[in-house]
Amino acid sequence: MRIGGFVPFTSIDYPGELAAVVFCQGCPWRCGYCHNPHLLSARGSELLDWNALLEVLERRRGLLDAVVFSGGEPTLQSALPEAVRRVKRLGFKVGLHTAGCYPRRLARLLPLLDWVGLDIKDLPGHYPALTGVPGSGERAWRSLELLRQSGLPFEVRTTLGCHLPQERLARLVATMKSKGVPFHRLQPARES
Ligand code: SF4
Repeated sequence: MRIGGFVPFTSIDYPGELAAVVFCQGCPWRCGYCHNPHLLSARGSELLDWNALLEVLERRRGLLDAVVFSGGEPTLQSALPEAVRRVKRLGFKVGLHTAGCYPRRLARLLPLLDWVGLDIKDLPGHYPALTGVPGSGERAWRSLELLRQSGLPFEVRTTLGCHLPQERLARLVATMKSKGVPFHRLQPARES
């Protein structure tokens, strides 16, 4: 695993659980408002040692409930399923923050996970203007359908900003309601 950051303790990244967050290096998209630009390159300059992090997590058994893989985009890395298994063997629940970039990989990963926070940025056709990647909207919304069918607890997050006009935001919120999405969190874009 290529790890670009680690937060040893948080109460806000996995609903209702005390968690550590592992920030995975690399993302295939380039959203203008990205709050973790140092994590976008697949090869970061200051990577953390995954095995050393596992040792840290082992010492935190009984103090933490869960480990969240965030990013960047965790599903970019083919080593992620094995990393999730190793964390689960330590007795932690595992959460995933994802933008849904790789729905087929997500489908294979879902049986290993306990909770997912999915970033839905906009209506599908408007994604490329934000991410710079054709077809990105279809991928993210396919991931949403996979989550809805999985029975796994999840929430959808949408970052607010000038890229998302009020009228489209209203349509997005209504669509999430109509799809029965249990939690749709609206979060302001962080100012740089
Ligand atoms: S998908 Fe997330 S991590 Fe990737 S560029 Fe967009 S905001 Fe940043």
